[in-house]
Amino acid sequence: MIDMDALEIPEKMFEEMIEQANEAAPVEACGILAGKKNRAEKFYKMVNVDNSNTHFMMLPEEQFEVTKDMRSAGLKMLAIYHSHPETGTRPSQEDIRLAVTPDVIYVILSLANPGEPDIKAFEIEAGVVTAAPVEIVKG
Ligand SMILES: [Zn+2]
Repeated sequence: MIDMDALEIPEKMFEEMIEQANEAAPVEACGILAGKKNRAEKFYKMVNVDNSNTHFMMLPEEQFEVTKDMRSAGLKMLAIYHSHPETGTRPSQEDIRLAVTPDVIYVILSLANPGEPDIKAFEIEAGVVTAAPVEIVKG
């Protein structure tokens, strides 16, 4: 069980996520949110090698670079993020199956309603999905 303090995403980062998602659409965008405690401080935009509108896959080389960068910056991986260009925020069967990283929150940004991006966070453990609190904060 992860610490249930809401994951805090600064407004500016949220805007960057929306921008990346809009640019990638109809392909899913993906990324990693790193920070301290429960506050995201850095957003790593990742390449979706699947180049698909229904799933995503990060490049291991790129993940390795991000892990190194996080470590040297004293940040930890808080969330694995991807967008749903055409569907709601619910994790897909594929998302649930591939959610194997321990101790992270899974963040999904839906662009299904034009002009109204919706963000939700989940804990996914051994196939069980639980909603996790996420807040967009000033700064
Ligand atoms: Zn998904």
